[in-house]
Amino acid sequence: LTMACLTAIDAGDALNAFVHKTPEIALDQARAADERLKGEAPDLCGIPLGIKDLFCTKGVPSQAASGILKGFKPEYESTVTSKLFDAGAVMLGKLNMDEFAMGSSNETSVYGNAVNPWKVDDRKLTPGGSSGGSAAAVAADLCLGATGTDTGGSIRQPAAFTGITGIKPTYGRVSRWGIVAFASSLDQAGPMTKSVRDAAILLQAMSGHDPKDSTSADIPVPDFEAALTGDIRGKKIGIPKEYRMDGMPAEIDALWAQGIAMMKDAGAEIVDISLPHTKYALPTYYVIAPAEASSNLARYDGVRYGHRAKLAAGDGITDMYEKTRAEGFGPEVQRRIMVGTYVLSAGFYDAYYNRARKVRALIKRDFEQVFAAGVDAILTPATPSSAFGLGEMANADPVEMYLNDVFTVTVNLAGLPGVSVPVGLDSKGLPLGLQLIGRPWDEAGLLNHAHVLE
Ligand code: GLN
Repeated sequence: LTMACLTAIDAGDALNAFVHKTPEIALDQARAADERLKGEAPDLCGIPLGIKDLFCTKGVPSQAASGILKGFKPEYESTVTSKLFDAGAVMLGKLNMDEFAMGSSNETSVYGNAVNPWKVDDRKLTPGGSSGGSAAAVAADLCLGATGTDTGGSIRQPAAFTGITGIKPTYGRVSRWGIVAFASSLDQAGPMTKSVRDAAILLQAMSGHDPKDSTSADIPVPDFEAALTGDIRGKKIGIPKEYRMDGMPAEIDALWAQGIAMMKDAGAEIVDISLPHTKYALPTYYVIAPAEASSNLARYDGVRYGHRAKLAAGDGITDMYEKTRAEGFGPEVQRRIMVGTYVLSAGFYDAYYNRARKVRALIKRDFEQVFAAGVDAILTPATPSSAFGLGEMANADPVEMYLNDVFTVTVNLAGLPGVSVPVGLDSKGLPLGLQLIGRPWDEAGLLNHAHVLE
């Protein structure tokens, strides 16, 4: 299996999905897995995976697709990757992504973008972002599954754009230790796979309490695969009216209707619900995420990690910081740092950051009220469109790109689990996904609902 993937990866270089290949590590791990498989071994034993470049992997370049982390090889292994390797998984290499996970098209990567294996005529399409390399690699069968991270949609949107499954777990289900931080109160890692069953198996191995992450929850991890019974009779599925956006393509609406029909056929009850603060979600996210990012990214100072600018005679420490950060960070990351610094600054803190925190609480309360009224899961589109062309947004206002996250950011703001499942194709033949949002800690129920849509 590992050999087949390594061959596929080399043949798939044009996708630019793998940015650091680790064949020696993969073959060592695969040999060890072969030994282990002679006895009792976990489901993941010997399964070759790709790892998003945001995860620290010991002795292997871990750059978060940024110039500022050029040459950075961590001395330690992230909790998620060590758990996967303990379960016998094989690492094929590191996967492309948007720089520091900031983006929705993979075009902010220092390595250049990954390419979606799906095409329309000969037009190259984005695999989505930020986990675009993970999505492209899984969709093109370069690996059997991949890790992703999701701060505002970075697992679910690329999964939808490439016709695969991706789940963002409840905040705190998966340890963030050893994952390069973007916005710490929103970041969660999760699996990106070909099927819901694979997602369940991978999520099982990734989850669990970690004393090294103070926000990781000390609650039991149920058997996610055993929950995939396909039985959702009597479950209540909420359809939020605020997600029916003006100007939403008819095809997305039709896909949504198809998903509703599938759930109904499986015996679920469909109820109309309201999440009234949805319209504030994007501005709230684009205040909170940059605020946290500006603080997290302050550590890249030219001393502790990766890149340091060449200094001129007479340059002082401030010159070193400024030159290093100007050279090392790409334009989107610099934009986020500036926005974040601004909204946290003394004069504007209350007007922006504090207000965004209050609105975030209201967004969370909307969901709490719906779940308290007996709704088991919420069904929405995953993205407002299918994959768009690479370069298409190059000259657009950055806010145009941010609109991609309109259906996904609420889930991070509320800390809920959300899954994107491929449900159909549009008239161009491109995959479209639906999103299911679940109660906190109910990934098991959520995956079972998603299984019905497969
Ligand atoms: N597209 C969003 C952003 O750019 C989400 C990214 C993510 O989930 N990491 O912030």
